[in-house]
Amino acid sequence: VRDPFSEGPVADPDATCPCLSGETYGACCGRYHRGEAAPTAVALMRSRYTAFAMHDAAYLLATWHASTRPLVQRLDPYMQWRRLDILETTRGGMLDTVGEVEFRAFWRTPFESGVLHERSRFRREGGRWFYLNGDVLE
Ligand SMILES: [Zn+2]
Repeated sequence: VRDPFSEGPVADPDATCPCLSGETYGACCGRYHRGEAAPTAVALMRSRYTAFAMHDAAYLLATWHASTRPLVQRLDPYMQWRRLDILETTRGGMLDTVGEVEFRAFWRTPFESGVLHERSRFRREGGRWFYLNGDVLE
């Protein structure tokens, strides 16, 4: 199994998924990166975390709600996302149109490390979930 934290995009479908679901990338976030609609807000959230880990700015923009999406997604090439903990999900299910996910995401650069603790809001439109916005906690 390939190290999911090695440099560059993890295109190997048999590698461990960077979101640490325990599934392979191909069976987990890779499905959504290939265009399949994420069924739940938390599935979209995981796939966006994995896109951050893989430095996939195009996917981040494509899954960002049009009302809040930035023109450009800049990613720090030295930023490594090491671990994702989902703390709580509110709604965001297959019959919902809104949802919230609270998570902790652990990052590292060659110079420092930290934790992003955020409560993100998602909206579903046309059968697809989109990231709307979020509050950074602590
Ligand atoms: Zn995943």
